[in-house]
Amino acid sequence: MSDGIVYLVGAGPGDPGLLTLRGREVLASADVVVYDALLSPRLLRHAPAGAERIYVGKRADRHTLPQEEINALLVGRARAGQTVVRLKGGDPFVFGRGGEEAVALAEAGVRFEVVPGVTAGTAALAYAGIPATHRDHASALGLITGHAAADKKEDPLDWQALARWPGTLVFYMGVANLPRICRRLVEAGADADTPAAAVRWGTTPRQTTITGTLDTLPALATEARLEPPALIVVGGVVGLREQLAWFEARPLLGRRILVTRARAQASRLVADLEARGAEAVEAPAIRIEPPEDRGPLLAAARDAATLDWIVFTSVNGVDAFFEALTETGGDARALAGVRLATIGPATTERLAGRGLRADLQPATYTGAAVAEALAGAADLAGARVLLPRADIAPPDLADALAGAGARVSEVIAYRTVPDPDGVQAAAEDLRERRTDWITFTSSSTVRNLVDAVGADAVRDAGAHLASIGPTTSATLQEAGLEPTVEAAEHTIPGLVAAIVAYEREA
Ligand code: SAH
Repeated sequence: MSDGIVYLVGAGPGDPGLLTLRGREVLASADVVVYDALLSPRLLRHAPAGAERIYVGKRADRHTLPQEEINALLVGRARAGQTVVRLKGGDPFVFGRGGEEAVALAEAGVRFEVVPGVTAGTAALAYAGIPATHRDHASALGLITGHAAADKKEDPLDWQALARWPGTLVFYMGVANLPRICRRLVEAGADADTPAAAVRWGTTPRQTTITGTLDTLPALATEARLEPPALIVVGGVVGLREQLAWFEARPLLGRRILVTRARAQASRLVADLEARGAEAVEAPAIRIEPPEDRGPLLAAARDAATLDWIVFTSVNGVDAFFEALTETGGDARALAGVRLATIGPATTERLAGRGLRADLQPATYTGAAVAEALAGAADLAGARVLLPRADIAPPDLADALAGAGARVSEVIAYRTVPDPDGVQAAAEDLRERRTDWITFTSSSTVRNLVDAVGADAVRDAGAHLASIGPTTSATLQEAGLEPTVEAAEHTIPGLVAAIVAYEREA
């Protein structure tokens, strides 16, 4: 008897944040993940890197794997002792044949558990600003297949009952039958003026909603070339959307924005963009790696207590320095008498995470501003200043500090290396002119993207370019590229604010 198990897991309707905690937990324990279409690829990141990933959805070259073969796959893997996660869109037991898979597992005597998910039928409505129920409009909610209406003879639905339904009707898989669904409801006695809507790609940055009535919706859908996946919702609650359409009101809805930062650093920018409705495409042009020779960094960490100042110009510099400090047997107490300067709030925050307060952070977040603020705040003559920096940092900060009389030691704390795999996604998006914005958070993101795909490809993509600050803008201009916006505050929130401001104007 093997101890294999199959988890039938609801992946939610599209927004990767709508996976449940239990779903994430079992994904993290998977030996193999069996999944189909309609899922955010990001969900698969919750599975261990070494877990096998098997796609059983529709492909251009063939249809979905037949249901019996999926069942056999699940049974076979569990019998071989594996932990199998069967990821299914929405809730596994709301349409989508999760029930059939569970029966097959039960009949085969395979251990299984069901992890419910957030079903599209309520989630896509919620994101469209349509409450599934409401005391004034709907005291019942019907989840209905819109597929069955295709065949008049085999139709299992009682349209008279549906027309009398005291609440909201939500049709899954109904796009092809939309005219028929609306017509049959009206023929069965429903008011032709009943509000109705179609929500396509609900909860994703591609979400669109069409609203009308049972009478007008089919023509509106044809006009808008509505295609699956979409839900059709019928009932008075649709009218509340006028007040409640929060998701589609966000300023960057549907904008496709390239994030070229190193993946390890991209999360803040990605989260900020997505919170405003954008589709953030991660295409890291660079990767952060340790320096080829860590000797100087380790030596600097060992002698940290003898310093007057350390100037941190990035969170990577903070991380690398403290790793070196730990490795040499030291800890934060070595910095008791050392004053700390940072280039901006993210770096300050990273220091705070290590229990250290920055003594100085300039009003604008550039190397030149740090040097100026430092020279204004302290007598640098003879002061020992450590600068743990990137391999490719410009020399101006060190020069300015030396000019003020400081004894500057620059050590390479980390390297930024091109990430050709990461850029692949970008290259394709740019070629197909699908990108609305490209974000540049440092000069190295500019250089690495330009090195990887060429300045012409960036220009010809027709995307807006967003730069985090003057240094990055200058690097763009050297490559013959003109930033559409430059952040007034040289931070990630500042960069996002600049894009939002531009889009609001446009
Ligand atoms: N088990 C899934 C439903 C699978 S049936 C769930 O609980 O959500 C597939 C149908 O679900 C699609 O034809 C479409 O009608 C609906 N659907 C799934 N995801 C959707 C989305 N993000 N937006 C709109 N409709 C969606």
